[in-house]
Amino acid sequence: MKFCSECGSTVTTAVPAGDNRPRHVCTACGTIHYQNPKIVTGCIPVWAEQVLLCRRAIEPRKGLWTLPAGFMENGESAQEGAARETLEEANARVRVEQLYTTFNLPLISQVYLLFRGSLEDTDFFPGEESLEVALFREEGIPWDELAFPVVRETLKLFFQDRHSGVFVPRVGDIRWKSDRRGEYQVRMLDGERG
Ligand SMILES: [Zn+2]
Repeated sequence: MKFCSECGSTVTTAVPAGDNRPRHVCTACGTIHYQNPKIVTGCIPVWAEQVLLCRRAIEPRKGLWTLPAGFMENGESAQEGAARETLEEANARVRVEQLYTTFNLPLISQVYLLFRGSLEDTDFFPGEESLEVALFREEGIPWDELAFPVVRETLKLFFQDRHSGVFVPRVGDIRWKSDRRGEYQVRMLDGERG
């Protein structure tokens, strides 16, 4: 941030009184511009044994498959956002059920909330951000062509839980290994694996 969104003056970086970390502070009006993590909301749309995935038409990870998800908008709930993203990316109507995975991505300051959901019909087609939208059975999931670690981890848990018949809400952290791009580490709240 270079300029204050309140008055247009330049901002500086300083630790405000009573705070413990550097913030963008306006040199003229004194407004402190806090920057906090963003919430990404989305869902796992299910139709019988199949899960709906979208192939991305936009960067990052263009051409790879993902669950419908995106940044939450002001004025909506996380579950409303999940349904909206499913409609925008796949033109699919979904009944959002329970929260399933919560993943923290501290290195990019994002929190993913992914809900389980039921498709209301199969009249879906690609939205502007998707090249293709399709239903996949577990054996057909394109594991090597998934866009994001959070999608891979959520789908792994989803099929694991579906086999056991009980969907357990999960919380985990995903961090990339600094030395090798693409490799990442997952730490679930109830254990660790990588
Ligand atoms: Zn200002």
